[in-house]
Amino acid sequence: MNPFSQLGIRHDVVNAVTELGFENPTPIQEQAIPALLTGSSDFVGLAQTGTGKTAAFGLPLLELLDFSQNLPQALILCPTRELCLQIANDLKKFSKNIDNVHVVAVYGGANISDQLRQIRRGVQIVVATPGRMLDIIGRKAIDFSGVRYVVLDEADEMLNMGFQEDINNILSTTPEEKKTWLFSATMPAEVRRIAKNYMTDPFELTVGTKNTGNVNIDHEYYVVKPRDKYAAFKRIVDFNPEIFGIVFCRTKIETQEIAEALIKDGYNADALHGDLSQQQRDKVMKRYRERSLQLLIATDVAARGIDVNNVTHVINFSLPDEIENYTHRSGRTARAGKTGVSIALITARELGKIRQIERVIGKQFVKAEIPSGFDVCEKQLFALVHKVKAVDVNEDQIGQYLPRIMDEFAEFSKEDVIKHFASIEFNRFLDYYENAPDLNAAAIESKSSDRGARGDKFGRNGYKSDYTRLFINLGSVDEFTRGDMLGFICNNAQISGKSIGKIDLKGVYTFFEVENSIADKVLNGFNQADFNGRSVRVELAGDRDGGGGSRGRSRSSRGGDGGRRSGSRDRSDSGFRDFSGKRRERKGEKKRW
Ligand code: AMP
Repeated sequence: MNPFSQLGIRHDVVNAVTELGFENPTPIQEQAIPALLTGSSDFVGLAQTGTGKTAAFGLPLLELLDFSQNLPQALILCPTRELCLQIANDLKKFSKNIDNVHVVAVYGGANISDQLRQIRRGVQIVVATPGRMLDIIGRKAIDFSGVRYVVLDEADEMLNMGFQEDINNILSTTPEEKKTWLFSATMPAEVRRIAKNYMTDPFELTVGTKNTGNVNIDHEYYVVKPRDKYAAFKRIVDFNPEIFGIVFCRTKIETQEIAEALIKDGYNADALHGDLSQQQRDKVMKRYRERSLQLLIATDVAARGIDVNNVTHVINFSLPDEIENYTHRSGRTARAGKTGVSIALITARELGKIRQIERVIGKQFVKAEIPSGFDVCEKQLFALVHKVKAVDVNEDQIGQYLPRIMDEFAEFSKEDVIKHFASIEFNRFLDYYENAPDLNAAAIESKSSDRGARGDKFGRNGYKSDYTRLFINLGSVDEFTRGDMLGFICNNAQISGKSIGKIDLKGVYTFFEVENSIADKVLNGFNQADFNGRSVRVELAGDRDGGGGSRGRSRSSRGGDGGRRSGSRDRSDSGFRDFSGKRRERKGEKKRW
């Protein structure tokens, strides 16, 4: 019997997933499907991306909904447009053998009238990003009174992106008795709070170790001088001729600059960031998915929800601002049981950050050496040799030219011919890497970055710093401005405003930073505090399932729902199809910014 049938999935759905190549359920599917199929309890699933979550909740939904009725019965909320489309497409594929299934994807940055039209026609499953969903609810264009299941996918990401209030508002339009299924890669205190507020006695499931990265990912770091970073990065790429990678940068500007430098240097690369229009981003993603792009240079926000299989390398050109973003970045490789490498390019002083990431992901990095110029030449030469050996020869087409080609090489021995062909690429690399310097720099292993150091405070951005990030259950809905909040904290904790760092004011809560030395004082200062008769809670932000971090990106900068962006020109045709064949002249590793 098919293992999916054994889990209780009907035949027509089993047939559809078999066609997709699903032979055996993934661990989360194996455990979640029977629990969700009962349809009688709330659910919390702690699982990384790429574990097969979509089918874990999608297949039970297809069993539980009544498709003879054309009204919204399931609502799936997710953080980004890409994920939204992916989930909707997956559900359509899973349900292709069931009659009258209507799934609509509702997301920002696309024409709302098309989405409204689809809703009017009648849908049972709505997959949505929160911003656009709220817009549609505001237009009274959808009736959620018949919703029986709500899925919150990548809940931690949705909160990171500031969707808490939107989610509250959306859920308030659904019936009390619905069941809520929550999936999250990490379980910071804010997600726990959602689980507590919206669920009764949920069935809890953890796949893999809490907060631990995928076991199939190898983590490596390279230590370089800041000025050598780009050259070192290119060397790593050159040393991996078959690389199909995502390169993460911290800012849109850095993303754009690196992509442009790479394109100029003849690499098959392009940028993905929030300053591109939705159309431009779609184009870049299409090319990457089809593998006509080899390197995708992306910001964290833009790369959220990217589900491309067979990514061989994730390269952290710069470490993320927030420690837990490292897990999200590296999770773009080693999907669906594959293996992958996550590389961090760091400067000597950043070794402490690597140690902190190791603690969060529960895995150690391997220190790797930037390959020498000679190593790269050798690697490229043999990649070329293997390519020549493996190439499909089109006998019909090449046949007509063969006599002339043979004629040209009449004077050459077989060895000469091979030497000449192999030298085409080899010379280019030899030329480029001649006298290439050693780019490895010495790392500084500070005392405080020793593995397993205890008592560290996670400060700003989740990395150790002078500040500790705290959470308070008051925010803009309580009519606080940042200034009010500063005063409120200072009064209650009896501290000076100078000891307070960044204040990240949200709807129903706020994150703020205080100097490490007074964190306990501030926590204690609010023990008896109340605000308008409500008790005030102050806690360590995230209660540190993986560090805090400045979660508060502004709504306008998030990738998922942000709509169209103006700005950069559409460069989507400027990449190079053939990575090795069209490399332009590039002498000396001089590219800097
Ligand atoms: P997800 O975590 O839902 O984004 O799934 C990650 C990838 O794994 C997607 O490409 C799915 O198509 C694939 N996948 C999900 N379940 C299975 C399965 N049981 N067997 C093989 N591939 C799967």
